[in-house]
Amino acid sequence: MVEKITPRSQDYSRWYTEVVQRAELADYAPVKGCMVIRPYGYALWENIKEALDRRFKATGHVNAYFPLFIPMSFIEKEAEHVAGFSPELAVVTHGGGKKLEEPLVVRPTSETVIGHMYAKWVRSWRDLPILINQWCNVVRWEKRPRLFLRTTEFLWQEGHTAHATAEEALEETLRMLNIYADFAENDAAIPVIKGRKSESEKFAGAVTSYTIEAMMGNRWALQAGTSHFLGQNFARAFDIKYLDQNNELQYCWTTSWGVSTRMVGAIIMVHGDDQGLILPPRLAPIQVVIVPIWKSADERERVLAAAEEVRARLGGLRCELDAREEYTPGWKFHHWETKGVPLRVEIGPRDVAEGQVVLARRDTGQKLAVPQQGLAERVSGLLDEIQRNLFRRAKKFLDDNSYHLDDYEEFKRIIGEDGGFIYTHWCGSADCEARIKEETKATIRCLPLDQPGTKGRCIYCGKEADQIALFARAY
Ligand SMILES: [Zn+2]
Repeated sequence: MVEKITPRSQDYSRWYTEVVQRAELADYAPVKGCMVIRPYGYALWENIKEALDRRFKATGHVNAYFPLFIPMSFIEKEAEHVAGFSPELAVVTHGGGKKLEEPLVVRPTSETVIGHMYAKWVRSWRDLPILINQWCNVVRWEKRPRLFLRTTEFLWQEGHTAHATAEEALEETLRMLNIYADFAENDAAIPVIKGRKSESEKFAGAVTSYTIEAMMGNRWALQAGTSHFLGQNFARAFDIKYLDQNNELQYCWTTSWGVSTRMVGAIIMVHGDDQGLILPPRLAPIQVVIVPIWKSADERERVLAAAEEVRARLGGLRCELDAREEYTPGWKFHHWETKGVPLRVEIGPRDVAEGQVVLARRDTGQKLAVPQQGLAERVSGLLDEIQRNLFRRAKKFLDDNSYHLDDYEEFKRIIGEDGGFIYTHWCGSADCEARIKEETKATIRCLPLDQPGTKGRCIYCGKEADQIALFARAY
């Protein structure tokens, strides 16, 4: 018998780690802070990648690859950038058996090296915009690592664009934010709040950072993707200039945006339950698993033949037939439930005789017998329903645990008890923000783009405030 996963209500963090390992998504690497993404986890990442990449290309972006090593002097060129990233840098001092003249940084992000190249490539307004994305790994030294959520090395995509005007760059920043939100909601079935980061939470070197924030199963927030309007900060630091139509030299306006393997952590925490993972059908590496059930050798032959036929019918889906003899059907049910496969098809001797199969939903546990005739349509329809149900469920959880209030005692009580998302007036002062963080551990996740436009009083200092901030505990 397999050991049970620690229930979420007992120890959420332990539940998370056990799910990651039991579902065979990832494992710890010999170097602290690094992780090995196992084939099942990587297949999930590949589906995330594909769904995003398709959207990037449909909006005119192309992929390229820039080097892993960045000269130390590059990082130092943008003052805020170096201040923000210095504590997290991995630095290479030796190469080929010799001390290097200039240390190299293992990229924590690539604005600098890409800025350097754009300065070379951009000459006139005709060269703009440049819309490049890269899929790669980055390194940011982590003191308190967690699989997928915070690892020293992680995989991501980073988009870097250069434009002739501020308006175009800002438009691009928001376009990518919307693409991230569209991906999160439609493919990952994760409802998100779109907003702007406060000064203290923004990307080091950005003018404005935008984010999508999602609520995890323990009511904490997870930043699931960010899009930055960099203004002319990097263009000035790296001399990215172009001749405009009046033949005058201008600095470009740039953006950058990224989604990482953190998204896998979000999917686990938003949808998973005490049995393990629950994957949204659009991203699941295996959408349907067929488990044949037999006792005698004679049954085995008939059942397997029918199961093969079922697999052929479901040819358009990511489908796996688990015909292993060394495991019982019960073991297989449990195994694939832990791995979050959205739909299970059970087929036994009686089903074969009656020309039917039994479908079992991972999201609701519901079972239903359906005819093999027309199975493909039935299964596709059910996968769509599961996809929608996961989103609905997550949206309800988000709504049920969101509060609109202006009373600090109430704020402290909610954050201190079950937690949740709190929308409240904030005066804009970094001091109020810091004190709230110190007293409650809740941070400003974002200033939601969707603002009611009402005036009120800052929840901390009581001064007049015309904006609503979203506060929560966060990963
Ligand atoms: Zn205040």
